[in-house]
Amino acid sequence: MGVAGSGLELVADVVRYVAGLLLRTVSRVVGLVFRVAPGALDLAFALKALVARCVAGLLLDLSFDLIPIGHVNPPLGCLIWSFPARRAENAGYAVFVEPLADSWGREIKSLRVSVTDKCNFRCTYCMPAEGLIWLPKQEVLTFEEIARLVRVMAGMGVSEIRLTGGEPLVRRDLPELVRMLTATPGVDDLSLTTNGVLLDRLAAPLVEAGLRRVNVSLDSLSHVKFAEITRRDALDAVLRGLEAAEAHPELRPIKVNCVAVKGFTEDEVPALAALARRKPYVVRFIEFMPLDADEAWEDDKVLTGAEIRAIVERHWPLEEIPAKASSTARRFRFADGRGELGFINPVSEPFCSTCDRIRLTADGHLRTCLFSRREWDLKTPMRAGVSDAQLATLVRQAVAQKELKHRISDPGFTRASRSMSQIGG
Ligand code: SF4
Repeated sequence: MGVAGSGLELVADVVRYVAGLLLRTVSRVVGLVFRVAPGALDLAFALKALVARCVAGLLLDLSFDLIPIGHVNPPLGCLIWSFPARRAENAGYAVFVEPLADSWGREIKSLRVSVTDKCNFRCTYCMPAEGLIWLPKQEVLTFEEIARLVRVMAGMGVSEIRLTGGEPLVRRDLPELVRMLTATPGVDDLSLTTNGVLLDRLAAPLVEAGLRRVNVSLDSLSHVKFAEITRRDALDAVLRGLEAAEAHPELRPIKVNCVAVKGFTEDEVPALAALARRKPYVVRFIEFMPLDADEAWEDDKVLTGAEIRAIVERHWPLEEIPAKASSTARRFRFADGRGELGFINPVSEPFCSTCDRIRLTADGHLRTCLFSRREWDLKTPMRAGVSDAQLATLVRQAVAQKELKHRISDPGFTRASRSMSQIGG
């Protein structure tokens, strides 16, 4: 713990650290208890968490106010979210003492950054054939603004960055942004989700700029069905893009994401699974979610992970392999060892309890959940000249309100305030 300054400051830091630890432990335990019985008491939990954190935070800050030792005294107003600005530059220290955590005790490690809302495909489970009204250019964050927000969040422990869209590769000079983000302290993992149609041309400059992981969306290996679902005759271009990615051993794993729709995907499953057996791609099946702009999603259009696994196992036995706690996918390998599959089941097997993700839209709004109905505007204050510390405070305030879970299967479920292409997945 690299703490600058005097012995008293060290004492102050240790006290703050222990208090932070107690706070997080309490909120985790409370979070755990209420996760076991979700639904009935979010409000009760939120109140308890808030009171618990406020009281402790108040005591902490008052103690530092009364004993002015070694740090900038934050205004009483932002009791819990403020962090002694003087130490903010030391990311390791900041994360150690005040990780970015929501009120359920989940630490946020992953940020998905939508770099554009535009896309060159018209996937039926995402947007209408005529497309959507795109954001005006001046509303879209510049690379410098994205890099600044990433730097601020990386300083609070957000170490995994995924670039998304719309289709991120339609944004000009994207390798430049990749270069900026890979050079950002605290960013350990940078990946990209793309439809792959421009990847054959951009794989090399992206890898040269520092990209190390890529997810390519591919819902069918049949030219007819590919065109039916994407409204583009571009399967060959996507396969060329995958080949181009394959040519760069630094770019691993290469994941192929297939959105599974009942009545469409069943026949595609064996061919896509076979792709994972013959190619160095991890093929993942994602359950269809109610994020389509046409609002055509229905529960009975969801082909569940279990149903897809059953189709695969008619051909090849699978074995489950351990996955990272916050991973969205259940991982399986073929019993004969030839390749890996993943199943992302947000509808049938929600994974919200370990969610460590937040999202930044192309126009600079922070979303704390894919299904958020509320957003936090970071662009306006940033363009108005606020400091990094003030941006960090805004992010902490947003994360403190992060939703416990999506409510897709709950009666009265209300759709997210944006569709998938406007969020970026
Ligand atoms: S639905 Fe929301 S809370 Fe659940 S995993 Fe997705 S982003 Fe996280």
